[in-house]
Amino acid sequence: MYRQNDLEMRVLVLAPTGRDAVLLSKTLESANVAAEVCRHARDLLAMLEHGAAAAMVAEEALLSTDVAEVVQWLASQPPWSDMPFIVITSRGRANAATARKAQELQLMGNVTFLERPVRPETIEAAARSALRARMRQYEIRRRQEVLARVNADLEQFAYTASHDLQEPIRNIAIYSELLSKGYRDVLDHTGEAFLGYINKGARRMEMLVRDLLAYTKAASISDEPTDLVEADKSLQDALLNLSEAIRQSEAELIYQSLPAVRMREVHLQQLFQNLIGNAIKYRSDEKPRITISAEKNGSHCLFRIADNGIGINAEYKDRIFGLFKRLHGSAEYSGTGIGLAICQRIVDRYRGRIWVESEFGKGSTFFFTIPG
Ligand code: ADP
Repeated sequence: MYRQNDLEMRVLVLAPTGRDAVLLSKTLESANVAAEVCRHARDLLAMLEHGAAAAMVAEEALLSTDVAEVVQWLASQPPWSDMPFIVITSRGRANAATARKAQELQLMGNVTFLERPVRPETIEAAARSALRARMRQYEIRRRQEVLARVNADLEQFAYTASHDLQEPIRNIAIYSELLSKGYRDVLDHTGEAFLGYINKGARRMEMLVRDLLAYTKAASISDEPTDLVEADKSLQDALLNLSEAIRQSEAELIYQSLPAVRMREVHLQQLFQNLIGNAIKYRSDEKPRITISAEKNGSHCLFRIADNGIGINAEYKDRIFGLFKRLHGSAEYSGTGIGLAICQRIVDRYRGRIWVESEFGKGSTFFFTIPG
């Protein structure tokens, strides 16, 4: 974790002549800005690595190769960082060579040019404004760290709560069933009904907690690159788990051989299971007809799961991917509103995209992309 320290508050000064370096650092110090002189471009790079608020460099001190190294170093920096560079340019008329150099230096991103002769007040003002910009970046970093910590705590809380609630809920479900079976003659009609409510509630909680656990687990999917896996295998596993629903609904499933993708098998299976399970659940009066297809699209693979179900009103097609967002009550269709949120999370972790196109009353097509 990054902490702001003295090194991160300094301005690094790279000037080829000792006189320039002394002058610049004196000017900065008299303005209460900590300055440190680097002798060579490679020292500047090494010092940047340990932290700095900004760098002030004389144009002639950076060769093209040095600029390339700085640009490479900048690319390795975290997204909050945008190191300010103040470049003191040479005096004289602009020509092709100076224009080319200026273009090269621009590649360093956050660059301010000061043309010689530069007045001390100008140097001071440029350094102060670079420092202000850098302080804001440190503040963004701090907020990101706080957010990441709070997020991790919340994830941990949701994980522990859903994990630890599983057993007591299962006990309520099992014992309420045992009570109603084994003590039927002691219970009157009302007692029997109450036990039924308890059991139904416990079964619903069981489902919610199971899905919530799957949702929190999806947050910790590693973003390390994975080997290629055959999507066919994940599809077959998902269909096996859905076999009872497929049999009952007499769903027709249409698919051809699917390509290999860079994703863990279990996650692709979860995507298929949620999306095909929904295509069966949200069926219309017609027999479900579900088409699963995929095609390579550059570095990604685009999957399509199309159904002839009830469809989704256009205004809800983004909302349904939110946690607990459902378009129907549980009396109409059972469910927790977590399935698509899990899909969204999985796809996000693999830097893919998921969306739906649908015509209300005619069916829906869910699309998702995954690195191929
Ligand atoms: P659940 O199915 O448990 O309610 P999901 O997150 O899987 O939760 O889906 C969210 C909502 O999106 C569902 O409640 C339903 O209204 C809608 N939905 C999802 N899939 C389909 C589909 N294939 N056809 C029509 N509506 C769907």
